[in-house]
Amino acid sequence: MKEFKAESKRLMELMINSIYTNKEIFLRELISNASDAIDKLHYQSLTNQNIKVDKKAFAIIIKADKDARTLTISDNGIGMTKEELETNLGTIAKSGSFDFKEQNKKKQNIDIIGQFGVGFYSAFMVASQVEVISKAYGSEEAYSWVSSGIEGYTIKKSNKESYGTDIILTIKDDEECNHYLESYELKRLIKKYSDYITYPIKMEETISSENENQETKLETINSLVPLWKRNKKNITEEEYNTFYSDKFFDYEKPLSHIHTKAEGTLEYNSLIYIPSHASYDYYSKEYEKGLQLYSNGVLIMEKCADLLPDYFSFVKGVVDSSDLSLNISREMLQQNRVLKTIAKNIETHIKNELISMQNERREDYLKFWDAFGLQIKAGIYNSYGMDKEKLQDLLMFYSSKSEKLVTLKEYLDSNKDTKDIYYACGSSIEQIKTLPQVEAMAANNQDVLLCPSYLDEFVFKVMNKYAEKEFKNVCSDNVDLTQTEEQEELKTLNENSKDMLSLMKNEIDVKEVKFTSKLKNHPVCLSTAGEISVEMEKVMNAMPTNETVNAEKILEINSHHPLAKKLQDLYQNDQEELKKYSKILYAEARLIEGLPIDNPTEITNLICDILVK
Ligand code: ADP
Repeated sequence: MKEFKAESKRLMELMINSIYTNKEIFLRELISNASDAIDKLHYQSLTNQNIKVDKKAFAIIIKADKDARTLTISDNGIGMTKEELETNLGTIAKSGSFDFKEQNKKKQNIDIIGQFGVGFYSAFMVASQVEVISKAYGSEEAYSWVSSGIEGYTIKKSNKESYGTDIILTIKDDEECNHYLESYELKRLIKKYSDYITYPIKMEETISSENENQETKLETINSLVPLWKRNKKNITEEEYNTFYSDKFFDYEKPLSHIHTKAEGTLEYNSLIYIPSHASYDYYSKEYEKGLQLYSNGVLIMEKCADLLPDYFSFVKGVVDSSDLSLNISREMLQQNRVLKTIAKNIETHIKNELISMQNERREDYLKFWDAFGLQIKAGIYNSYGMDKEKLQDLLMFYSSKSEKLVTLKEYLDSNKDTKDIYYACGSSIEQIKTLPQVEAMAANNQDVLLCPSYLDEFVFKVMNKYAEKEFKNVCSDNVDLTQTEEQEELKTLNENSKDMLSLMKNEIDVKEVKFTSKLKNHPVCLSTAGEISVEMEKVMNAMPTNETVNAEKILEINSHHPLAKKLQDLYQNDQEELKKYSKILYAEARLIEGLPIDNPTEITNLICDILVK
């Protein structure tokens, strides 16, 4: 018996003792090797006239024998000589994934084996013994390589009719491995990992026929040419949709698919889908973004997160590139130039598709927006506005004038003369519509974006501007669309009422009390000075921190309302009563804004006092 080389021994130890749950990838590895071996012979037959093989006969055959507990993977590829068996299977090159695993040994549950190719040795995760019988193309002799694990291996002469390799696994006798002898499980694994191998993968099954003879049946399991590699022109909408539901287990039709084939310096095929709704786990912590990554038709990663930015995490799809090696590790992948370029292209494709959906299929876009709009807004906010250029044209808000969702561009197109972009926040469209400031804007024929999502105002703050126009909260004190003349009058009124207003201010917790001419019917409103609005105060104070945030509030009193006169009378004749009025009016303004009242008993008593008068 010969001993394995040092590195091989270490890797084998890892494989054999792996507590790793994803043992099933061993089949993918052996099938990939078989496919590579056929590729090599195929290539030689194309370049060397002396080699004559029947290309139609190329196949990988899988056969399970429950009684003998063996699983055999056979190919009619190039095969291995005695020396090749020795060098290829007796040593293992120091591979990237191996180093990675070593470095991370202390961290538990590294999903390295499942993610990346680890090759032939993965067979030892499920087999107590592995025998490789191989006959190199053009050679007369066949050899058998046998190993039961770490101790070493033996090579001896063997018999094999034709060129190629048979890998015979004696499946471990334990519960975790028994199902690798079941044909349904083997078929499932072939479908899952190796569906798109370009040679037929056939399951050999023995069936007893009527006359007691045993017959063998060969069934091709894989689809051979993946949808993403086919010509777009020959693919029907239904095929695209069926592929989507089969692969991503979503039975609602996707909103769009993007099928691209890149050629030239970087070659890849990608097939990407925009779902029509968020999956049940989308907004949970368990959700993992990513696209399936294939290298030449072989699945190397179920969810490659680096292919998608967070704000497009809802996207599903497949990327297949011949420029990526099968044995690439997660670390190498992250720095991989090819992958970075593909990711960038994909991002552009998604963005363009969404924009064209917005322009040409508005109903679908609204579905998309309903499902994933929050993600786009979060994308702008989380990047502190850095991604705003990319995402701002995807945004939609409810326009008070059009009474529907519009893009920012549409808002500006239909409000050509607007100085700023006006918005108002609150808990629902209906509630926001009733805000005094919004009513006042409507009276001025001014369009306002009504924003019931807590994120909206934060998004505007980080965006700062869109197409050179500033975002203005109609509830901030510096928004006033009244004419200059009227504003002059107001200024005089406020100056003349200075003492009265200051007396009122001293009764309540505000920065200022002042008259306004912008309101239409409402007697009062609450506006804010500075950066923090009332809505922001609500959101920030709902967060689990010890700090409380206070918006700088201003109580504004409608100068056209009969109340203005009443207050002035009280100031002249009954200042104690005016103090009570201040408290009640402030409470009123808070209620309209959806803010709590700190002293409800006091306020209700004050109202009662006035009622009984
Ligand atoms: P990798 O495939 O990543 O090179 P493996 O450990 O899976 O690493 O295999 C080592 C080598 O053994 C392969 O490079 C190949 O030369 C050889 N080999 C494995 N399986 C076969 C096979 N079925 N037919 C011919 N050669 C094989």
